[in-house]
Formats: sequence, structure tokens, C-alpha cells
Amino acid sequence: MTLARTLRSVAELEKARLMPAGSSGSPVARVGERYAVAVTPAVAALIDGNDPNDPVARQFIPDVAELTVLAEERADPIGDLAHSPVEGIVHRYPDRVLLKAVHVCPVYCRFCFRREMVGPAGLGTLTPEELDTAIGYIAAHHEIWEVILTGGDPLVLSARRLREIMERLAAVDHLKVVRFHTRVPVVEPERIDADLIEALKASGKTTYVALHANHPRELTAPARAACARMIDAGIAMISQTVLLKGVNDDAGVLAELMRAFVENRIRPYYLHHPDLAPGTSHFRLGLNEGRALVEQLRGRISGLCQPTYILDIPGGHGKVPVLSPAVQDSGDGCFRIVDFRGGQHLYPPQPVSEPYEAQG
Ligand SMILES: *Cc1c(COP(=O)(O)O)cnc(C)c1O
Ligand code: SF4
Repeated sequence: MTLARTLRSVAELEKARLMPAGSSGSPVARVGERYAVAVTPAVAALIDGNDPNDPVARQFIPDVAELTVLAEERADPIGDLAHSPVEGIVHRYPDRVLLKAVHVCPVYCRFCFRREMVGPAGLGTLTPEELDTAIGYIAAHHEIWEVILTGGDPLVLSARRLREIMERLAAVDHLKVVRFHTRVPVVEPERIDADLIEALKASGKTTYVALHANHPRELTAPARAACARMIDAGIAMISQTVLLKGVNDDAGVLAELMRAFVENRIRPYYLHHPDLAPGTSHFRLGLNEGRALVEQLRGRISGLCQPTYILDIPGGHGKVPVLSPAVQDSGDGCFRIVDFRGGQHLYPPQPVSEPYEAQG
């Protein structure tokens, strides 16, 4: 299907036949009221309307299961707010910070870990004063070696705005690496033009782009070409994938995805265990199921194709590799986890209860 523009509601998706007739009058309409919805023309073109279990549709089309919220799920699953010294900055690890300039995305993923912060009703875009304060924070903290632009999706910003941010970061001597986390090369590949690519580079700094993609079908010819344009211009690329039930919880699919990254000069970086975002339990598998899948990749595909399987410890305690001695199976459905500072945590966090219906 070829669309002229991005679809932004259950009613628009229904009209485009990406959701069944009657959806806008059924309970799933409440999902569209509660969480942001956006499907770009490139994503709509990828959806196979004849497959009720299409792995692309599952990532972007609202599902009534999103109204079921579990007790262990949290509005801020990885604890961004607990580590935010000034608006737009998350400083959890000594040598690197997140800079969240914008809370808008070209698409809205149904499993998004920041679903309570992104979208039209989310935290919005930093004001010029807030951006000044955020960059001032980076300049004042000499231990910051890397800035990670995330959000939201920083590549929704215009080339002019990105260039402004990069020029200001270029003036910070102790900063060496700028990393962008984005889905744009896949979901809106035409945006990656020469102007935008130049804007991502800053003299004296190394630019990395981490591409978020979850299924090999997302790496279409236009998406591959968009990545090649960035890499040819001197930008290094890495991947990040969220392990999702019904999308890529299969060793064959993961192997194909990781190979596609490597074939396109994108080094597999992280495979994220899905976070405890509200209304996303239909996407989550157990840590042991994830471990079994990742272990199957080891013998099956090249070492270049091996991502690190990562859990972000709920509450803001940082990331931990799931296949490490820091994550111990207690055998009763519970894991004991040690964070990078030595703190101890249970996963899933207690208490665990029966599903209940979300309010409004
Ligand atoms: C994920 C994350 C990072 C980046 O972690 P890496 O392991 O370097 O990729 C940095 N800061 C915060 C707050 C994060 O959540
Ligand atoms: S692109 Fe990232 S931040 Fe945006 S909706 Fe998807 S997971 Fe969330």
C-alpha cells in the first residue's frame, strides 16, 4: 500500500484498511486515545495485510492488549527521571549522558519504553533556554566523553536544528563522541539526504548512528541505501533491536536480521530485553526464553553478527548483559541481578499481580 502521508489515529488506520472495519468504534480506539499512533508511508508499504500475524504490523498497529497493565509495569521503566539533573539530560553513567532534545518520533512503536513521555501529549521539545542549560551541563562536566541524542527520535529535527546542536557540542573539548539513536533510516529513508548527513558531523568529534530495527523485512532497498549514504559520508553505524514476542523471537529471524545489519556495514550492538512499559506484556518473553534464543546464535552465525543481549534494570540502575554472572536465575521465575555499582535487584521487580484493565 502506498500512502501520501503518515497516519496518526485508529480512524485513519481503519480508513486505510490497516485496521479492521469498526475499529474506531471498538475498545481498541481507547489505545489510540491513550498512546501516540503514527505509521509512515514506508512502514505501511511493508505491512502484509493478508497476514494477521505480520511482524511489522505488530510493532506499529494499536492492539487492545495495550489496555492490560501489569503491577510490575512502570510509566518510567528505566528510571530516566531519577537520573535527570536538568531538563533533557539523563546522567546515569559517569562518562556519557543522554540528550533528549525532542520527544517526537516518525512512528510510534507499540512496545515503546518511553511511551508515557513521547508523542503529541508527551514531554515535547526542549525550549531554547532548556537546550542552553543542557549543553551547559555537558560543558561543565569534564567526565562526559559521549553524548547520546535520543528521545524521541532526534532525526525528526531539521538539518538546521541538528547543525546548531552539533556546532555547540563541537565547542566542548572533553566531548569526543556523539551518538544518535534513530529509526528514521528505516521508517522515513528519504529524510536521510546530504544536508541532514552533513548536519550530523562536527569537526573533531566522531559520529555514531545506532539504527533501531527489529525485523529483517525492515531493511528494504531504500533503508539500506539511506544507511550506505551515512556510512559513505564517514558516520559509523551500530544496531539496536528489541527482542519482541511475535516479531523476532525466533533464532532464524534474529540471525537473518543480524546478518542483514552486517551486510550493510552496521555492527550489531544491543539486543534489548523488552522493558516494563505499561500495556506491553504481550510483547515480553521470559529472560530464560531470551537466553535460549541468543545462545542459538553463537554457533549459527559469524561473530560479527552477535549482539549483546541487554536488560535495563527497572528503576534506573543501568544496563546488564543477560548472559553474564551478574544475572542469576533463582529457579522460581525470579532473577537476582547485580548492577554496575554492586547494588542487588530482583527481576521482575515485586510485587507481581494478575492483569487489570487500565483506566482511560
Ligand atoms: C542506555 C543508556 C546509555 C548508553 O549505554 P551504553 O551501554 O553505552 O550503550 C547511557 N545513558 C543512559 C541513561 C542509558 O539509559
Ligand atoms: S522510535 Fe524509540 S522512542 Fe520512538 S516510539 Fe519507537 S521505541 Fe519509542
